[in-house]
Amino acid sequence: MSSMDAFWKRFENKKKEGGRATPSSRQPFRIVKKEANVSAEDSGGGSEVQAVDPDILKKVKKNKRKRIQIKNDDYEQLMMLSVPVRFPQGMSLYPTQKLMIVRILAALKNSQNVLGESPTGSGKTMALLSSTCAWLKQYIDEKRESKEKCAVHGNFMRHEDDEDSKDGIKKEEDLAKEDIKPVIGAAPKKKEDLFEEQWNDDFIPHSPPTAAIVKQEVNAEVKKEAKPEPVEQKTSECTCLPRVRIYYGTRTHKQIAQVVKEFSRLPYANIIKHTILASREQSCIHPTARKQPDISQYCKEINSANGIGCTFKTNMRPRFEKAAPMRDHLQNNGTVVFDIDEVVETLATSYPQLCPYFSTNRILTQDADLIFCPFSYLVDPLIRNSSDVTIKNSVVILDEAHNIEDTCRDAASFTFTEKEFDDSLLSFRLKRIAIDTILSKNTAEEELAQMEDFSITMKEFRTHLLYLEHLVLEMLRWVRQVAQHAKTPPKSRQEGFKSCTMSSDNLFASLTDPENGIDLFTPPQSPKHAAIAASFDTITRHNEPEMQAMDQFKPSSTAIVCIEKWLYFQTYFGNQQYQTTYRLNVSVEPVNYSGRFNNTFDGDSTMNTSYSATNRTRNSAGPRNMQYKEENAWVQEAENDGDEWIDTDSSPTGHKAIFEGCKTSVSLWCMSPALSFFDAFSETRSIILASGTLCPMDTLKTELGMEFKQQVEGDQVISPDNIFAAVLPIGPHGNRVQCTFRNTSDPDSPFYSEVGSIIKYVCSNVPAGILCFLPSYRVLEQLKTCMTRNLSMKKIETKKVVLFEPRRSSELSNVMDQFDAAIFNPKNFGPTINGALMFAVFRGKVSEGIDFADDRARVVISVGIPYPNAMDDQVNAKKSYNDMNSKEMGILTGDEWYTTQAYRALNQALGRCLRHKNDWGAMLMIDERLERQTGNLQSGAVSARVSKWIRAQLKSYPSFKTFNASFREFIERQHAVVKKEELEDEI
Ligand code: SF4
Repeated sequence: MSSMDAFWKRFENKKKEGGRATPSSRQPFRIVKKEANVSAEDSGGGSEVQAVDPDILKKVKKNKRKRIQIKNDDYEQLMMLSVPVRFPQGMSLYPTQKLMIVRILAALKNSQNVLGESPTGSGKTMALLSSTCAWLKQYIDEKRESKEKCAVHGNFMRHEDDEDSKDGIKKEEDLAKEDIKPVIGAAPKKKEDLFEEQWNDDFIPHSPPTAAIVKQEVNAEVKKEAKPEPVEQKTSECTCLPRVRIYYGTRTHKQIAQVVKEFSRLPYANIIKHTILASREQSCIHPTARKQPDISQYCKEINSANGIGCTFKTNMRPRFEKAAPMRDHLQNNGTVVFDIDEVVETLATSYPQLCPYFSTNRILTQDADLIFCPFSYLVDPLIRNSSDVTIKNSVVILDEAHNIEDTCRDAASFTFTEKEFDDSLLSFRLKRIAIDTILSKNTAEEELAQMEDFSITMKEFRTHLLYLEHLVLEMLRWVRQVAQHAKTPPKSRQEGFKSCTMSSDNLFASLTDPENGIDLFTPPQSPKHAAIAASFDTITRHNEPEMQAMDQFKPSSTAIVCIEKWLYFQTYFGNQQYQTTYRLNVSVEPVNYSGRFNNTFDGDSTMNTSYSATNRTRNSAGPRNMQYKEENAWVQEAENDGDEWIDTDSSPTGHKAIFEGCKTSVSLWCMSPALSFFDAFSETRSIILASGTLCPMDTLKTELGMEFKQQVEGDQVISPDNIFAAVLPIGPHGNRVQCTFRNTSDPDSPFYSEVGSIIKYVCSNVPAGILCFLPSYRVLEQLKTCMTRNLSMKKIETKKVVLFEPRRSSELSNVMDQFDAAIFNPKNFGPTINGALMFAVFRGKVSEGIDFADDRARVVISVGIPYPNAMDDQVNAKKSYNDMNSKEMGILTGDEWYTTQAYRALNQALGRCLRHKNDWGAMLMIDERLERQTGNLQSGAVSARVSKWIRAQLKSYPSFKTFNASFREFIERQHAVVKKEELEDEI
């Protein structure tokens, strides 16, 4: 019986015995003091086989995984810039890949940065991985030699070698910590303590890197050492090379899974150790935790000093607190190269069952040389500083980096809602009152005084709560003041909507307004910033024995995140170099209005990217939670139920709504990506930005504010015969087609009937998968209505299963399953069905990160040019910022930037269908304005926006008849080739 079968048998038996294998009902969130007889279920299990989230078990049953055979001895090798680069046996590199590898190796050797643009299907990921892994392998050898020769660590190394080989991490950890955090004036900690500290540190939301906190920490260290210990005199300098890790960032876990698949093919798997960083929402297996609206908070609570604990975490002690046994455990369960789903499924069903979150984020990071993670772990300061991410000396790869500017601007932008402030105020106040109540009984302090090791009294804790309570009150006063400037925009389509965007000077003035009792400009060097940071530090300290008694008085996560965001904003805004990049936006929205939240691109859109009012105003925790919410739509659902502003009199704090019946929010928008990009990556060894659509590269470099000495633009590897690219300026009925707001607003416009007819024509003539991208959900809905009304949808449904991109991320995988099923088993859907048609929106979930190779997409139809919404305040603020600074900073003008945004999104969507060298497909662009992208009209450097490799094939057709002839010829030729190949296979 295999171990998996044995597991299932035990699991089923357990269910029959006590019914504890799956939770019968949702358990309320509560904190229970540790007791001897805590039930197994409450603690996440507690018996031999523990209940895990049933959805994970369903996935395990569905995805029967095969053991991966690692063939590290079976490879081909090329010497490139004196580095042996290995590839899978039988693989030959494209010239584009070779060029990219050489440029990356040159950059890594000289600590330089790289910009790499390479079309989809040209082997970009393989080039990125093989070059960096080859260089790192060589570097690790050099580093080992440097340690052996090091006067400080050489002897020590030899002495510890045996132990090193057992756990594989101790020396690396010590040296890495020395590299990263030199301890000022403090005696070095014992090696054994380092891990314990890291473990206990799991639940500490790290405070911002402010001078005050550093100073405070140093003072604390000095205090602790009232009697200074003799410091070992070092007679020699350390000559060890620093530890270098590779961070491979992409936008989503789906993309990470694809990159990991490529990594598993390389002969570096198992030589270069890897791990994945993922949130608890992605990786927690505790059945009760998974049902909570805030899994992280629940996890922290149950694992806190007074919590009931989680058996999946407890099972890790002590053996699996080290990376080497953890890797052995995974390997013994058939998992060597893993993505997040695989590691979750393995650890949920292994024996013992272990927490995947702590395993991947805390344990495997100890010895991992290659760390895969979503962008936010690298770019967002709040997430980066609360994770085990060590950017210094690392090599950072940002794949699919075409949106890096937006991502960076988002990372340094912060939104606060009136309700968020009021909730924070309430939380600070309630906790303070709780202490007041206890203190008034005059017994608690006496009790606490008898406790060993407590260093903070309730009175001190109360002082910090009160200080932050007053700070939030001051913030609310500030919001009330700035909100008075909000006006109804002239072209507002929303009743009661008000907005206002102010310059950085006005923002500064609003923060320093003594007349209204506002003194909120607190740069990092200021005493007030230090005081806020000190209070924040105190109320967020977790798991320290002396703080355990204070756990019950800690404020809500909303309150903590609110102060944390404020501290980060002040740290950035306090930097004079970047102060002028900030804009203050006030937005007032009636609570019952829902349309506004979908109005962003081209008059309205969708989106999970920059300039989305959806994210900015609904996201109470600011950019930090974006990734989290994208991946967990149920959080959005929960928020949608509870994020509305309460009525005037219902706030328990007594706060009176600034505008009755409206939700008021303030956004602090950063206009320059350079701020957070420099903050994140200035200490890396090399940063590599790669994508199929990075152009224009020159302005990208200037916007990001860093030097990229190595640059590469790869060529398309797919034969021109396999690519059909057309602009359709005219529809089958002879009307010119232009996807403007005016045309799309009119349901009777010929625009919809022409677009519908083109889609119907394509679906009737091309089997397999068809993708159709529209500028917004509004246009998509309208098109659907028109096509239903004129029966073209009905006709399409005789050939295709018609699907629509869901608005919620959680629903995407179901839709994709149906899409695949209709393509690969069409007869299950009806005798005439030959594939599927998917309607989606530009910049949406389908437009990037999903591989539509071969039959999954034979035609991509794009409708319109996806310009950002010209009515969006942030878009306009960015345009005028660029206009003001384009000459001085060498960045694009506002209009150029605006157009670039549109074409990057268009190119991304078009790139869905051509995924590898032998793939073929057609790209049909419906909009007469795109004629300028073809050779039919004069195309200069400015107007040529469609990707170079598409433009080479791009033709505009003066009539639908001429298009029809060419398109049919292309499709028939491709099918003839396919049929011939199939015939040859049979012979
Ligand atoms: S994240 Fe891990 S430790 Fe936390 S509740 Fe989930 S399984 Fe337990």
